Amino acid sequence: MYPFVNRQPSTVYNAPVKLFRGRLFTPIADPFVPGADVAATFRAWDDGFLAVGDDGHIDGLGAWGERPESSEITELGANVLIAPGFIDTHLHAPQLEMIGSYGGHLLEWLNRYTFPTEAQFSDPEHARVVARSFFDELLRNGTLCALIFSTIHREATDIFFTEAERRGFRGLIGKTMMDRNAPESLLEKVRDSYDQSRELLVEWHKRGLLRYAITPRFAPTSTPELLEAAGSLKREFPDAYVHTHISENRNEVRWVQELFPEAEYADVYDRYGLLDQRSVLAHGVHLTEEELSLLSERGSRIAHCPNSNLFLGSGLFPLHHVLDAGVVVGLGSDIGAGTTPSFFNAMADAYKVQQVQNVSLSPFHLWYLATLGGARALSLDAETGSLEPGKSADFLVLDLHATPLISMRSDRAAGLEDLLAGLSVMGDDRVVKQAWIGGRPVHTRA
Ligand SMILES: [Zn+2]
Repeated sequence: MYPFVNRQPSTVYNAPVKLFRGRLFTPIADPFVPGADVAATFRAWDDGFLAVGDDGHIDGLGAWGERPESSEITELGANVLIAPGFIDTHLHAPQLEMIGSYGGHLLEWLNRYTFPTEAQFSDPEHARVVARSFFDELLRNGTLCALIFSTIHREATDIFFTEAERRGFRGLIGKTMMDRNAPESLLEKVRDSYDQSRELLVEWHKRGLLRYAITPRFAPTSTPELLEAAGSLKREFPDAYVHTHISENRNEVRWVQELFPEAEYADVYDRYGLLDQRSVLAHGVHLTEEELSLLSERGSRIAHCPNSNLFLGSGLFPLHHVLDAGVVVGLGSDIGAGTTPSFFNAMADAYKVQQVQNVSLSPFHLWYLATLGGARALSLDAETGSLEPGKSADFLVLDLHATPLISMRSDRAAGLEDLLAGLSVMGDDRVVKQAWIGGRPVHTRA
């Protein structure tokens, strides 16, 4: 079905290749494209091989009977599924420790819980402790790539990058920029915000697997001068990312109209040059038609965070309406308004948010959003997001017998679609037996 391909044919018989044997599944195309033949948007083998070259890239995959020669074979057994790693397109590292802080919608929640929590990151030791737990949790849950908010603190942001690099994690990280409508301890001068963001960008952007994201928190905590500074950074470094929030909650949208009466929310970012294909805007629950067509025109992405939208009561994301407008969508956990880093949960909540709007997403659609769709949202689909020759060997070994109940459900699954459906609603970190990035093990379940 999917023949062995080696990127360097001259060394096909000599290159050291590791083979992993197990059940395999990977999305390879977008099932949301109108008229898509969903069966052609993924590849799967009941008994397959994944060939990983010693450069950490995938050399091939296919049916076990078609495997290339290799002296290094890992037999994973019948009760695993080899699948691409999950890609979280929006979360906040410093909010890990405040998951489940209840009561209040977005704006009260920020003031009551988030800002006091983030203020603690002026202490580098605190940042170090949280950074270790943060990447432990992502890897334990099979998230192998993520777009991450830090706090306003330069040193804390440096610590998050350092920890990501130490783990071999594919991280897009940025120092939060904010200069109004927050406690004094979290406000910065525009010049400092610009200088510190620039220093971090120069230090970390495109260093190994890391990328820098220019990260104004959102319009309400930004003066026009701060957005101007963010925009001038973006002009200076056009291939850096922009990461912010948009239209999460109706009161927030009204507040932006008060603060920037001359423009709609998306126009505020656009007028400062902050919208292009490397701009990822979290939520977008309440966007107008004009805003959607502007985002589509600019190629900007939306990170849909269903768990967070439910927890904060922000609203129901109109997925197909946004996709139909031509906007690329990825999934995000939005820790800590989201209540778990698990992408099994992200898929399950994405399913439920569409169900109550009378749309049933198939497991293939959900797994696409959680993997290759996320890579597309982050413009990283040439490197990761699916198991395809030439891409980085970023994959998970999922245990179909992780718990008695998951075992029962997996064993009675009628086929691949049913297996993926069961996993997406029942899975959690116990299912993630191993995680690999660039052909290197980054997590093994205890
Ligand atoms: Zn967020």
